[in-house]
Amino acid sequence: MAYNYNPDTLQILPIGGVGEFGMNATLYRYNDTAILVDAGVMFPDTDQPGVNLIVPDYTVLNEVGVSGLIAGAVITHGHEDHIGGVPFLCRDLDRDMDIYGTRLTCGFIRKRLEEHRFNHKVELHEVAAGDTLSFGEIKVHLLRVTHSIVDCVALVIETPAGTAFHTGDFKVDQTPIDGKNFDFAGFAEWGRRGINLLLSDSTNIAKEGYTLSERTVGDSLRAIIKASRQKVIVACFSSHIHRIQQIVTIAKELNRRVVLLGRSLENSMSVARQLGYLKVPAGVMANKEEIRDIPEHRLIIITTGSQGEPMSALSRIVRGETKQVEIYPGDTIIISAKTIPGNEKSVMRIINSLYRMEAEVHYEEISEVHVSGHASREELKLVFSLLMPHNFVPIHGDRMQLVHHAALAKEMGLERRRVAVVDSGDILELAGDRVRKIDSIEVNRRFIEGDRFEELEDIALRDRRRLSEDGLIVVTLLVDETSAELVGDVEVITRGFLLLSDDEEEMAQIRDRVRRRFSELKRKDRLNWEAVRPKIRSALRSYFRKRMNSFPVVLPIILTVPGEKRK
Ligand SMILES: [Zn+2]
Ligand SMILES: [Zn+2]
Repeated sequence: MAYNYNPDTLQILPIGGVGEFGMNATLYRYNDTAILVDAGVMFPDTDQPGVNLIVPDYTVLNEVGVSGLIAGAVITHGHEDHIGGVPFLCRDLDRDMDIYGTRLTCGFIRKRLEEHRFNHKVELHEVAAGDTLSFGEIKVHLLRVTHSIVDCVALVIETPAGTAFHTGDFKVDQTPIDGKNFDFAGFAEWGRRGINLLLSDSTNIAKEGYTLSERTVGDSLRAIIKASRQKVIVACFSSHIHRIQQIVTIAKELNRRVVLLGRSLENSMSVARQLGYLKVPAGVMANKEEIRDIPEHRLIIITTGSQGEPMSALSRIVRGETKQVEIYPGDTIIISAKTIPGNEKSVMRIINSLYRMEAEVHYEEISEVHVSGHASREELKLVFSLLMPHNFVPIHGDRMQLVHHAALAKEMGLERRRVAVVDSGDILELAGDRVRKIDSIEVNRRFIEGDRFEELEDIALRDRRRLSEDGLIVVTLLVDETSAELVGDVEVITRGFLLLSDDEEEMAQIRDRVRRRFSELKRKDRLNWEAVRPKIRSALRSYFRKRMNSFPVVLPIILTVPGEKRK
């Protein structure tokens, strides 16, 4: 695979997280030292039945020869789209790994790692905002930021080739629940020293103004819970420690008891409590066996299921499948989370069922029961002004968000040539205070069932959907047994594929792509169809994804022919 590194430059290679939401992972390399920033997963859309997780195929790092250079992975915060891929990373790289994160981040990663088994040693290093980590000639400085999970850091990556600033996920919350403030002084100080390249969170670029402080949610939750004469059920994300803290505090004030329902919620609560991130007054928490003994008007239930997930605690309650909890007319249900795009239908279904049961329902569109954890436009501008970067690359967003964020950088005075919008797999280089794209590599995605390592190789449903929507491509390669070279032309047959049937130019390009990918393979691999097939398939998949955002089923057929048969 084509991969270049020019000596004495800072190379930045996003493995995931740009041009898509999730799977955040970025490689930073200076000469023979590299670090990985974050290793996340992506959650599938509802149109990917049977798939629970999507992770990047990190073996690409072995393939391009940089895996041995990685001195450690530095994790910005404990959200799944930043830590969920850690076990897969460790397995794919097939070597011992050092992982750095703040205390809570390490707590969540430890929990993840316990669910997997490794042949290699994974060492977790607890670090804190204000620390500086040294990896050869790469220094990483950690600055505190605020977000929808506690203990988040932005990273200053200092190298002889220049300094990059990687924000991680953030909002500017000036009244954080834990009183640990956004490090404005640190940002300003680094801005003064000079930031050659800023990589910044693009999630909420389309939102005007400022994202409200998490504290405002507490005020609305308090008012709603105070007005209720019956039980209250709050659905929220299990990692949202501040939100849970606020509910617990309100429960104490209003003399109610709190019960948690949902495994992921119980897990993250126990990690956060153990590490001292959650202050729970005595006598507030109760377990689910006690629910029947608590008067309805003294009860708050916190559940998972804010996205309408059918197997979650909230969905089960609504379907009447839980012994302990039933919904009565007049109960209050609060969905204290943003509906992730793609989940609207499932969330609506739950809300409709709840209304049918004559419950009182509060959700983001009608009540102030949720605020985002990501910076809106004015906060993005603020950070930009503090850092005054010389070059800019938007991260953490679909192409749409990245393009808008790039436009904002131009509005802030950066010249067009100093702003780069990239896709996962693109290779950037910082040298002489300029950033440019030098190349790109293909990063495959893997579809995982459950939290385990079992991968769905051929998901019948997925293929069926792809066949019906995006069609089928069959490519046939004839390989000479003696010379390991291609014989004749690559044959391409398409069925149900919109663009191609008689597009000769496109066909020529596809053949060319296949031929090129084949020629990049090592000679000994070329005769092994099990080695050739996935490479050809992934080359074409990425070709169709990039060119026409299409995901046809790709079926490579490799036939070997005896050498003497050739003319
Ligand atoms: Zn994120
Ligand atoms: Zn996050």
